[in-house]
Amino acid sequence: MTVMQSSCRAPGCKTEVPAALEAEHLCLHHFMVNVEQSCHEMRRETVLGRTPHARQVEIMKYVADHGEMLARVATSGLHLPDEVKARVLNTFLTLMNLRENLDRAALRQPIGRGVSR
Ligand SMILES: [Zn+2]
Repeated sequence: MTVMQSSCRAPGCKTEVPAALEAEHLCLHHFMVNVEQSCHEMRRETVLGRTPHARQVEIMKYVADHGEMLARVATSGLHLPDEVKARVLNTFLTLMNLRENLDRAALRQPIGRGVSR
């Protein structure tokens, strides 16, 4: 079996794709850019607390899957400069915050008012 080394699918980027990101066809840098961008959009989408349940499940899956991919690539023995490591942690934080935000938005959904005592 031959291992095909593919390069990043981001326009103009010729960086080699790490094995853990083969499915995404992205280099680590563009993977993180992509995740951060998507998280930003999803966060905006969920902030109103009107995200349908099916979509919430989809977002949770996105967070779990991409967190896992990021963890795998970050611990796969690549020698990353400190600033890239910091960026990895920051991307984790973005994913964690999105997940948390989703729970909070769900809690904000009205369950009925006037529960007085
Ligand atoms: Zn790239």
